Amino acid sequence: MKLLNTIQQRLGWKLFLSYLAIILVVVAVLDTISEFRATTVLEQGFAQLPAPLRNDPALIAALHDRFQFAIDESLVIGSVAAFLVAVVLSLFAVHRILRPIQAMIQASRRIARGDYRHRIEMPGQDELSMLAQHFNQMSETLERTEVRRVEGIGDLAHELRTPLSSIKSMMEGLVDGVLTAEPATFLRVQREVARLQRLVHDLEELSRIEAGQIALDLRQVNINEVIQAAAARLQPQFEDKEVLLHLDLPPAPLRSRLDTGRLLQVLLNLMGNALQYTPSGGTVTVHVQRQDGQIAVTVRDTGIGIASEHLPYLFERFYRVDRARATGSGSGIGLTIARRLVEARNGRIWAASPGSGLGSSFTFTLPSLD
Ligand code: ADP
Repeated sequence: MKLLNTIQQRLGWKLFLSYLAIILVVVAVLDTISEFRATTVLEQGFAQLPAPLRNDPALIAALHDRFQFAIDESLVIGSVAAFLVAVVLSLFAVHRILRPIQAMIQASRRIARGDYRHRIEMPGQDELSMLAQHFNQMSETLERTEVRRVEGIGDLAHELRTPLSSIKSMMEGLVDGVLTAEPATFLRVQREVARLQRLVHDLEELSRIEAGQIALDLRQVNINEVIQAAAARLQPQFEDKEVLLHLDLPPAPLRSRLDTGRLLQVLLNLMGNALQYTPSGGTVTVHVQRQDGQIAVTVRDTGIGIASEHLPYLFERFYRVDRARATGSGSGIGLTIARRLVEARNGRIWAASPGSGLGSSFTFTLPSLD
């Protein structure tokens, strides 16, 4: 029973036993075939012997026995050789297959304990090496997500602390009579509360989207019109900051099936970011074109740009290029939400920038109906 359990739990034993089974079957088949076939061939040979020899039963029996012995001997030598090859092959297979698998078992145990730093060394091109590479990529992603999560909690605490401290000090000022109870004071309190509300709203939105709980109200939409609506909504802020907003839209409608509100949300996020990270005197351009059966929308700015090492991570939760510099409701959630929304319509979103100080562009694609 214990032996059976050991065999069931050990891949090496299973491999060895499967080789052994093949050897036994081959030996049994060879033995059976040689029994019939060799006897027939031998008897045909005896039939061609001259009559005195052919009719000597003792000679025939002796020849028969020696022939059978030679065959049995070959089978035994062949089986022993095959057995040794099976042992060597099983040991090799155990080394080649089981070692990486055991390394992966150990690594996954570490991951289960929350230790994401471990990587598996597995050079080569075969399926096991590819599995190890994918495993390492998965650990890397988990490690980055974990770091981001921990940083994100810190960021969130910071984002919550700033407006809360300012509300607290204004309230204390009012109670102590240092501040006068006038509309301007209450407006400042209201602004801080609005900032908190925005943050909580973004977090709720992200958790709902990530849990797959967004209901999309899909309709046929002309994307140009939604871009114009987003531009109209942001125009006053662009004017305040003296940043030029330029729309580069084709005259023909570009139709896609999507949720207008969600597209507006993605556009407001990208255009809002472009405005936020572009100094006065700069330009933000929204460009739309049809590309391989898709509609590609690009929001390009002449702002502070993004260094290339940050580009792959911009759409990850809580990621901010310059954590110290980010202000306002910015908490590194906007682009994550935008990516989830675009991907929900089978689109893609990516960022590009020639480098710090050289502006950036954010492009997303959506399926075209035309
Ligand atoms: P946030 O709410 O902090 O703006 P986002 O997810 O919208 O969060 O953006 C993540 C980070 O990407 C920002 O903190 C900023 O560092 C960077 N970023 C986004 N858009 C731009 C842009 N147009 N130019 C430069 N950096 C940008």
